[in-house]
Amino acid sequence: MRAAVYVSEGTVELTTVPDPTPQGDDVVVKVAACGICGSDLRALTVPPEMPCQPQTIMGHEFVGTVVHAPESSRVEMGARVAVLPNIPCRRCAFCRAGKVNLCSNFVHLGAMRDGGAAELCAVPPDMVFTIDDGLDWATAALAEPLACVLNGSRRANWQPGTSTLILGAGPIGLLFLVMARLAGAAPIIVSEPHPGRREWATRMGASIVIDPVSESVRTAVDDATGGLGVEVVVDAVGSLLDSGIGAVRPGGNVLVFGLNQRAAVTVRPADIASREIGIHCVYIANGTFPLALELLTRHPEAFNPLITHQLPLEEFWTGIETMRSGDGVKVLLQPDGAP
Ligand SMILES: [Zn+2]
Ligand SMILES: [Zn+2]
Repeated sequence: MRAAVYVSEGTVELTTVPDPTPQGDDVVVKVAACGICGSDLRALTVPPEMPCQPQTIMGHEFVGTVVHAPESSRVEMGARVAVLPNIPCRRCAFCRAGKVNLCSNFVHLGAMRDGGAAELCAVPPDMVFTIDDGLDWATAALAEPLACVLNGSRRANWQPGTSTLILGAGPIGLLFLVMARLAGAAPIIVSEPHPGRREWATRMGASIVIDPVSESVRTAVDDATGGLGVEVVVDAVGSLLDSGIGAVRPGGNVLVFGLNQRAAVTVRPADIASREIGIHCVYIANGTFPLALELLTRHPEAFNPLITHQLPLEEFWTGIETMRSGDGVKVLLQPDGAP
């Protein structure tokens, strides 16, 4: 089968590899669409900002049809499914306490075990979720990033009228924007240096969109909140905690979402303590996958404008460059060719 294989630092080869050999109860999914994620971009920097095992097939945001399912898997042949790509060990202290997203021994599809940037992928049966017949493949491929965002948006506890600042308007920042809007948060200020992404934030319904390079985030927040600061800040980049603390009001909350292993910021603990700022960090999805699929099924039009490019698998690198440049929001790879 054809696959995008991570070879070494910054190198992915589009090549032919043997079909996957399912182990135990594994089902095999024929991939219909696989999203490129910000973490894929970080895995491909030199040196990598996210680890990826050499000779592993990339891709962790994928959907497809089950083409192999042993009876013991209890998965139906031909089922349309979305895949939860982070396999918990189910044995460590955190798994046993129900905190599977904090598992000490995660196996991440697309980084430590072969993922979905290929024609086929073998997956443990409890990692697949059936997709509603009415939900198209492309929109369904947003399930994984949306499930991660939902893990965060639950903590943001958005109510109608919650003033909000979102730092970064990449795919994750924009998904947070959609969720904040659905929850009635207002005003929603988005800060993003890339002009194309600022346009996307406007199109997706941000109240105020600013360029942090030429404008002061704090001034924009003061203007919009009568000098109080916002109630909720989402750092969707993972390196902007200091800006978040600077923009949130006393008693407000900063949500750190983005993952950048190399980012480091300086904060003054007194700014946090004297104003009782809550700092919340969320890592991947935790029980939010079914809700993500439900929201995508019920409100496809709220989410699918974020899919800007659908490319054949062979155009993997075009997809990476399109996302790196900020020209694309969510790029999908489709092994059977673009629609
Ligand atoms: Zn992802
Ligand atoms: Zn575990």
